[in-house]
Amino acid sequence: MARNTGPVCRMCRRENMKLFLKGDRCYTDKCALERRNYAPGQHGQGRIKVSDYGTQLREKQRVKRTYGLLEKQFRDYFKEADRMRGVTGENLLVLLERRLDSMVYRMGFATSRSEARQLVRHNHFIVNGRRVNIPSYLVRPGDVVELREKSRKIARVNEALDGVMRRGVPSWVELTRDAFQGTVKTLPIRAEMTTPSFQEHLIVELYSK
Ligand code: SF4
Repeated sequence: MARNTGPVCRMCRRENMKLFLKGDRCYTDKCALERRNYAPGQHGQGRIKVSDYGTQLREKQRVKRTYGLLEKQFRDYFKEADRMRGVTGENLLVLLERRLDSMVYRMGFATSRSEARQLVRHNHFIVNGRRVNIPSYLVRPGDVVELREKSRKIARVNEALDGVMRRGVPSWVELTRDAFQGTVKTLPIRAEMTTPSFQEHLIVELYSK
């Protein structure tokens, strides 16, 4: 399965925004953006005038990189969001949050979406009693995501669960720590998707050209 394997902190520096791609490190002063708050590369510290197109493009890149997607996958999500009823930009973010890897991250089983994605790929999760190893699987309200019995001793999962309060659990999921179980209570709520905070209308403008 294709994915971006380049240096991730560089992406945050390019986007001038914390995208929280490196787990707990993102919450410490070791964060690369805290240390070098300018774009990477030779001209990173120069002054650049950004056009409207540039602003829209950067916003699209921010969202795409936060969820660890490639261009084609992201565009497919946009097409799907556009077909749905309601506000396209909001639909897009809700769809991305409904991905199983994103839910696993939000429930606290992993410290980053890439870690969550790896855990899902490696068959560590059960959804509604059935094993699911597809990171893009879209969960629905009422779904129960559970760590498999044999995976409950994995140190990094337990460490992630111990630190879940620092990262925060959104209201649309409920974690039962002792049972290694998370329940999807409702569809993701746009108003609560604040870390990172996106301006999704810019993506709609970009793709509407
Ligand atoms: Fe790196 Fe995380 Fe900081 Fe981004 S937020 S620069 S991924 S440490």
